[in-house]
Amino acid sequence: MTSKEANTSDLAPLSPAYDGILELAPYQTGKPVEELTREYGVSDVVKLASNENPMGCSPHVTLAITDQLGQLARYPDGNGYYLKRDLADFNDVDMDCITLGNGSNDLLDILARSFVSSDDAIVYSQYAFVVYSMLAKMQGATGIEVPAHHFGHDLKAMRQAVADNPNTKIVFIANPNNPTGTQLAHSELREFVASMPASVLVVLDEAYIEYSPESNNRALLDEYDNVVIVRTFSKAYGLAGLRVGYALSSPAVADLLNRIRQPFNVSRIGLAAAQAALADSDFIETVRQTNQEQMRWLEKQFDALGLGFIKSHANFIMVDMTVDMEDTTAASINQALLEQGVIVRPLKGYGLENWLRITVGLAEDNLRLIDTLQSILNDEP
Ligand SMILES: *Cc1c(COP(=O)(O)O)cnc(C)c1O
Repeated sequence: MTSKEANTSDLAPLSPAYDGILELAPYQTGKPVEELTREYGVSDVVKLASNENPMGCSPHVTLAITDQLGQLARYPDGNGYYLKRDLADFNDVDMDCITLGNGSNDLLDILARSFVSSDDAIVYSQYAFVVYSMLAKMQGATGIEVPAHHFGHDLKAMRQAVADNPNTKIVFIANPNNPTGTQLAHSELREFVASMPASVLVVLDEAYIEYSPESNNRALLDEYDNVVIVRTFSKAYGLAGLRVGYALSSPAVADLLNRIRQPFNVSRIGLAAAQAALADSDFIETVRQTNQEQMRWLEKQFDALGLGFIKSHANFIMVDMTVDMEDTTAASINQALLEQGVIVRPLKGYGLENWLRITVGLAEDNLRLIDTLQSILNDEP
């Protein structure tokens, strides 16, 4: 997109640190509600584009935040002691296995900066979370994208890619994957990790783990020092606006990551909020159940509309918008949805031009989505 138009001469006499920067396209975020209201004059906007939790966050979080408001002049605890203590307990690991991040994106970035130089390679799957390929470019490293298998990770092919590229330093695996919602079996993943050279870090991005507890691969940490698990408070915990994530790893890896991260990368409010959110397991259980019910309902509606989809293990679903109607594409359907105040995520950037990723909303949001889709597909005004 804009990256192709950019060139170094526009910057002269300045020059970027390395040429890879020019290949980076800015990360595409979901359209903010405010922008849609401004552009199309629709007021009751439904945003199903960024996998946020439509139920918000635990009410305990509000109290924890209020408690901090008198302390804002003070730096947060740079070691995040209390949150780490609770995370250690929650995950049954030692505190020195934990690195906190300003969202899990921060940790993915810290991992790349800690382990990957321009001579190295990063391996990831086609249709995997777009940030992995961006990190390769940011490090001026080689990004190796392995073709997907049924829209999910092809671990056999990924193993081969690592074997073919001895300079591989990190393999990123999103499980469940965004944007496809696919999930890997424990046995498959275990076999993959076992096959990796000890010099290759296997980073399991478990951003949606709360929606799919069965995809928890925490057990691998006890056996393999080259496994890192990255989690976030942005999705099921409903704290995307606060930016808190964490990594679980061997103490040696955590020590390295903690040297690279900025000293106060999680705010005082973020630390307190995450601690309160973690403690409210009932909230997460309700979120998971509601998501399940709504996901089943949406699947039925897509079936009824004759739209294909990929079975998802997270809080979003990828829907095939290939329909037998003239001039109707995922892009035109997306545009029509926007004009009627429904924001979903087009996946052109992933090479999935005919697909839209739809976040599971509250029952009323999902009903609105389906009604709007139906009217678009029936070509009603
Ligand atoms: C949303 C998401 C993240 C990043 O979330 P943060 O808000 O930075 O914690 C990481 N990985 C995947 C796969 C995601 O979908």
